Amino acid sequence: MASRQGSKSKKSTLSVNKAVNSPSSSTTSSSRQFLETSLEGQSSPASSTSRSKRQYFYSESVPLDVERSKENVTVTVRFRPLNPREIRQGEEVAWYADGETIVRNEHNPSIAYAYDRVFGPTTTTRHIYDVAAQHVVSGAMEGINGTIFAYGVTSSGKTHTMHGDQRSPGIIPLAVKDAFSIIQETPNREFLLRVSYLEIYNEVVNDLLNPAGQNLRIREDLQGTYVEGIKEEVVLSPAHALSLIAAGEEHRHVGSTNFNLFSSRSHTIFTLNLIDLAGSESSRAETTGVRRKEGSYINKSLLTLGTVISKLTDGKATHIPYRDSKLTRLLQSSLSGHGRVSLICTVTPSSSNSEETHNTLKFAHRAKHIEIQASQNK
Ligand code: ADP
Ligand code: MG
Repeated sequence: MASRQGSKSKKSTLSVNKAVNSPSSSTTSSSRQFLETSLEGQSSPASSTSRSKRQYFYSESVPLDVERSKENVTVTVRFRPLNPREIRQGEEVAWYADGETIVRNEHNPSIAYAYDRVFGPTTTTRHIYDVAAQHVVSGAMEGINGTIFAYGVTSSGKTHTMHGDQRSPGIIPLAVKDAFSIIQETPNREFLLRVSYLEIYNEVVNDLLNPAGQNLRIREDLQGTYVEGIKEEVVLSPAHALSLIAAGEEHRHVGSTNFNLFSSRSHTIFTLNLIDLAGSESSRAETTGVRRKEGSYINKSLLTLGTVISKLTDGKATHIPYRDSKLTRLLQSSLSGHGRVSLICTVTPSSSNSEETHNTLKFAHRAKHIEIQASQNK
């Protein structure tokens, strides 16, 4: 277990099933749309190294207008603060944000990348939820498949972002609560919310709610891909849903949560995937056999994920290689068509992680190429 810690991919899936108003509906086709999330930054003078002259700067920005935007894939970057150990060791800020652009501090000429939004080290997860995730969740409740990923190296803040803790709840608990609030605010529809939770470990799918459910098969029907035999539990409250996730955590090498929300009159299942990916640094050569094997699987999954998202963003690609990894194959139904996708890349500013941060930024940039405007690039 311990040896697997570093490379577990936690993948959470929230599947929402929309109530269909037509009682005669017997269709099994899901309407899918890609996400466009709205994001905003905030001002935060959070530079924790005294040696760095640079201050973080985050512009106030308005949430993107979902209706107006043609985009359905949003790529954002979240900086975590330098931690006490890094500060003690005199680490410097190697990368900093300037508006929605991230600039390398230590190179001349400096390298810069632009994203839909950049979140600073003092930005709360609640805020990130509001601007980068809420539209995916509300879209899913209206029948638009959605996927929210956290991507980054180990210790960059993926779990902090997706799961969080008591003090700072992550996107998963916030989404669960939001889903139930939306149900309460929609009295003219009936909903049934089901949770499943799975991991993909070394390209093997395991059920985290049912320890006997190991190496499950991914099947395909008219609705898309699904995991054969996975346990789905009906939940009636946020606390119930979250207790299942907590129980599932006990079983994982990796994790994945799946909420199916559907009406007794609905035949259409919509899926919102909430995904805490494996650490992207695992793609580096590892010396031990187990780690090397994990790394090659993770590398392949993450590479495929990057290719798939970049092709979806491009919009012109004719072949999208969903089948090249279990992760993308499982997400195919949610990603294809018109689902909403939010990729939140987590990075640390620290100089000791500078190269890994650069890799994450390049991944994010490849996933969605955004031109840097001259005015932003000071
Ligand atoms: P990962 O899942 O990417 O390996 P974690 O989410 O476990 O990383 O984060 C590593 C440590 O950094 C944890 O102690 C976490 O609480 C802390 N951390 C991560 N992101 C933030 C943040 N934005 N603000 C404050 N602390 C953070
Ligand atoms: Mg983690």
